[in-house]
Amino acid sequence: MTLIDTRTPDAKRLISGATGDWEIIIGLEVHAQVTSQAKLFSGASTAFGAPPNANVSLVDAAMPGMLPVINEECVKQAIRTGLGLKAEINHKSVFDRKNYFYPDLPQGYQISQFKQPIVGEGKVIVSVGPDRQGEFEDIEVGIERLHLEQDAGKSMHDQHATMSYVDLNRSGVALMEIVSKPDMRSADEAKAYVTKLRTIVRYLGTCDGNMDEGSLRADVNVSVRRPGGEFGTRCEIKNVNSIRFIGQAIDYEARRQIAILEDGGKIDQETRLFDPTKGETRSMRSKEEAHDYRYFPDPDLLPLEFDQAYVDALAKDLPELPDAKKARLIASLGLSTYDASILVSEKAVADYFEKVAAGRDGKLAANWVINDLLGALNRAGKGIENAPVSPDQLGAVIDLIKEGTISGKIAKDLFEIVWNEGGDPRQLVESRGMKQVTDTGAIEKAVDEVISANPDKVEQARAKPSMAGWFVGQVMKATGGKANPQAVNDLVKAKLGIE
Ligand code: ADP
Ligand code: MG
Repeated sequence: MTLIDTRTPDAKRLISGATGDWEIIIGLEVHAQVTSQAKLFSGASTAFGAPPNANVSLVDAAMPGMLPVINEECVKQAIRTGLGLKAEINHKSVFDRKNYFYPDLPQGYQISQFKQPIVGEGKVIVSVGPDRQGEFEDIEVGIERLHLEQDAGKSMHDQHATMSYVDLNRSGVALMEIVSKPDMRSADEAKAYVTKLRTIVRYLGTCDGNMDEGSLRADVNVSVRRPGGEFGTRCEIKNVNSIRFIGQAIDYEARRQIAILEDGGKIDQETRLFDPTKGETRSMRSKEEAHDYRYFPDPDLLPLEFDQAYVDALAKDLPELPDAKKARLIASLGLSTYDASILVSEKAVADYFEKVAAGRDGKLAANWVINDLLGALNRAGKGIENAPVSPDQLGAVIDLIKEGTISGKIAKDLFEIVWNEGGDPRQLVESRGMKQVTDTGAIEKAVDEVISANPDKVEQARAKPSMAGWFVGQVMKATGGKANPQAVNDLVKAKLGIE
């Protein structure tokens, strides 16, 4: 690929070395496992966690005479993903053999796409942040290409003292390799990019995005240069499988390269590995070249061809994607960019929020989902899939506030009860006597009692009207927080004769 610089150096992303500032350049190759029942060229199952070699067809084991047959579902998933990346879809693409030997690769080659991938250039808008002021900054990351390829099996070196085993369950599973342009300039940008990519494929349902199961992993290309100067030589850190590690690997690698360059040395283009326990990258092999792999079109597979109508039909059925959803939440519910960004960042959160917000005050729903629900999930270390409070339950809590049945403060207690014990919020309010007292007679009685018990404070409040708050607090306390705060406030002021 020809490298094109799309960005001017940004002072806040530069790193200062001993001899001046440096700019980090990052491009990622993300491998995303295609969500499909069967493998790319065989009918074997892709289910995760099966016993070793349970999901291996004769094709996956590369038995003599077996022929690959393309799985159309994987093709559709790649096209859908390309559409989600606003990318060019190539109506004709070609499968090539990438030849190399490895024990977990029984064919002796990987079927991939080299010169003619199924998807060409696209772009992703990435929100980086929030920074200390709570602001997000949008950057655009170019997509170079997306191609389909087979995954390899897995060598297991820790099962036997003198032998290695091989598990071919993953052999032949479809991967999408999504190659970015070298458009990222910091570890935070790269992390935000992978997060966004994962969000997009999850919305699309084309990859489950589970990095700890290896469904999404990244080869991280890093180089450094003087701000705005020539691109430097890159190193590629292979197979990084968590977003946090991607950030750590970039920071370590940039520092390593800067130290070499400032020392008058030069960077060797090489493939490196990230060691999460040490937080370091180390050399694995010097860079291999495309010709080493003897790429050539796979003679067992015809070029893959489809027409625009095929693409249009898939485009028509795409779900609403995060950027569009965010714009809609801002425009139609009046949410802030910050709130909308948080709500759309995970599809499950967005789905939950939309159920709560349906027919209700969107801003109030957003506050409850972000501050109360996500806050509580965070503290409990739970994901939204396991939220103890359902959207219906949270919706009922919000309705009770809106109707004036409970105050916002009591609603917090109610939320906690529902979280811990479950139950119908409406019935809980009845059975636990949590209803807000709106009966002015009862509130008036409580106000009178507080006033007559505190003549000195009454004097002070007449001189200093802000003291009224103290009375409101006392009445709220006396009524167990159940008095309508507005009614209390009005009555206190009236009785004290202050504005
Ligand atoms: P290969 O398959 O040989 O690794 P590609 O040309 O497809 O090579 O590029 C791989 C990745 O490396 C791309 O994501 C690209 O953006 C990135 N990249 C290329 N040059 C640089 C560079 N100088 N610094 C950082 N990343 C780079
Ligand atoms: Mg590469």
